[in-house]
Amino acid sequence: MASQNWKGGIFLFTDKRSRRLVLAAHCLLNQNAISDGTADYPGTHEEVARLLLEEGVGILQLPCPELCCLGLDRGDPLGASRPVTVENTRIRREMERPEAAARLDALVEQVLLQAREYHRHGFSILGIVGVNRSPCCGVETTSENGRETAGRGIFLQRLLDALAAEGLYLPAVGVKFGPQAAERVAELLRGRTPLEPDV
Ligand code: SF4
Repeated sequence: MASQNWKGGIFLFTDKRSRRLVLAAHCLLNQNAISDGTADYPGTHEEVARLLLEEGVGILQLPCPELCCLGLDRGDPLGASRPVTVENTRIRREMERPEAAARLDALVEQVLLQAREYHRHGFSILGIVGVNRSPCCGVETTSENGRETAGRGIFLQRLLDALAAEGLYLPAVGVKFGPQAAERVAELLRGRTPLEPDV
């Protein structure tokens, strides 16, 4: 069978790129985007970023849905005065409103377009790294009814569904602060993360 990257008599993408990548929640690389009071690092999630750098894995940085749909203060400058899961539950409700939901669809479409291209050219999309407890990007846990509960964030679920609709079934892991996050991402890179996490 002809290579997906054999086009018009030339091979494409034979330079130094690894052709391996993950889709990562925006705030793992840019903590400035996270909701007020919840940043754990000055700039990036250091353990996860270091691992991906060492492994030569490219990072497709997902958009921050809360920043794009609600703004940096999530529409309430008093957000940080509430317990995190209470504020996250409020954010979840805001993200379900029609205007935010429409923006969310547009964000998912932007990611799909990129993932489709990588897939079409035979690159390995190793999976998605989300952020547990997040109302938008949680993988194994999210926030609902003022508590951290099992389940996925709104954006993550929509993205996984949209990818699956195109035949792209990606494993996903959710991380939090700390070095154990890198262990979870390492499992993802080794292909040891099940397609259906136990949510
Ligand atoms: S978890 Fe998702 S929504 Fe929350 S700050 Fe990170 S990228 Fe934005």
